[in-house]
Amino acid sequence: MLKITYIDENDISHKRVLVRADFDVSLDDSGQIIDDLRIERNVPTIKYLAQNGNKVICIAKLGRPRQRDPKLSLGVVVKRLQELLGTAFTVKLISDFLTEDKNTFDNQKPDEVLVLENIRFYPEEKQNDPEFTKKLALLGDVFVNDSFAMAHRTECSTVGLTTLLPSYGGLSVKNEIEHLEKCVKDPKRPLVVIVGGAKIKDKINFIKKFAHIADFILVGGGLANTFLASSGVNIQESLYEPENLELAQDLLQEAQKNGSKILLPVDGAVNGHSYPVDQIPAGGKILDAGPETMKLYAQVIHTGKTIVWNGPLGLFENPDYRKGTDAVFHAIIENPDARSIIGGGDTLAAISDKTGSEKITHISTGGGAMLEFIEKEGKLPALEVLKK
Ligand code: ADP
Ligand code: MG
Repeated sequence: MLKITYIDENDISHKRVLVRADFDVSLDDSGQIIDDLRIERNVPTIKYLAQNGNKVICIAKLGRPRQRDPKLSLGVVVKRLQELLGTAFTVKLISDFLTEDKNTFDNQKPDEVLVLENIRFYPEEKQNDPEFTKKLALLGDVFVNDSFAMAHRTECSTVGLTTLLPSYGGLSVKNEIEHLEKCVKDPKRPLVVIVGGAKIKDKINFIKKFAHIADFILVGGGLANTFLASSGVNIQESLYEPENLELAQDLLQEAQKNGSKILLPVDGAVNGHSYPVDQIPAGGKILDAGPETMKLYAQVIHTGKTIVWNGPLGLFENPDYRKGTDAVFHAIIENPDARSIIGGGDTLAAISDKTGSEKITHISTGGGAMLEFIEKEGKLPALEVLKK
């Protein structure tokens, strides 16, 4: 069977190594990094390669620029990476590798880490443009993909480079894959999946997949409203997707057929009060799970041997509506024997200031990539091209 070769399974030394890194962090209004988990996760790969005498050149994106945008410069990441790597390394930002003095690359030392400026500043990147890929490939002898969060995207720096350079998986990618595989291939049971967030549309295939393998699927957040509405509950003015009512019914039936239990909220928070879902006052909007739902979901989570969570259970950005999300987090850390995995950009933001995160088995850096990894049984474009 074809498989990925990781950097610690092959002798890579004294080479120029292009590392696709995951530096796509969230920034606050003043441009400071909110959560540096993604940068931190790339440190082992960078150190490992440098310690073997390689010269590391990192490629990454930040945000979604279509052209050069100073607000999305990787400068802020370079500063943080420097702190994480410590004084044994010098980290340098290359503001435009196409015009950079050739000597910068020729004279690079293994204790010097170069970071190319936000690769999405070049529109060719997103188009997986072969000519642009060639220009990137000239900088390295070897390609290492250590960006799990971009594994579902086909771009020059995720897929293109593998056509021109010997290619390997990085340590963070290895770690993500090992953890996620354990949840879907022969998981310890019961397997409890919690899915929340705004829209069914984003999570449909993820839920569908688990409708075949999970013992319980606990639904929360805005997408629970669509499930409730599809079951004939009057959710008043709550956010839901009328176009996906049928889809929601299909999912409920599919799960039932496969012996997987989909649980829906039994109550919801509206304007600081909670009501059973079939008694939401006229004009009311459910913005969080209610106490009975939290109790019910916590009980199920406590029985889990494997737990996968993606998506907040309410409008957590407003402190009045983060109780459901907090309750799920606490229920998970109260069950330390279970293998637990949490992913999703907003989900990580919702738990970022919490104590007890160390009790989570694995916090995935992939939002969309984690969902697609599960849906497609690991067959993501940037991972497939690493398999030999
Ligand atoms: P993730 O990024 O973790 O995958 P999503 O992007 O799917 O999560 O969903 C997160 C968003 O869903 C948040 O902005 C949150 O406020 C919103 N949300 C969750 N529940 C509700 C709700 N009941 N009503 C409105 N918005 C909600
Ligand atoms: Mg999100």
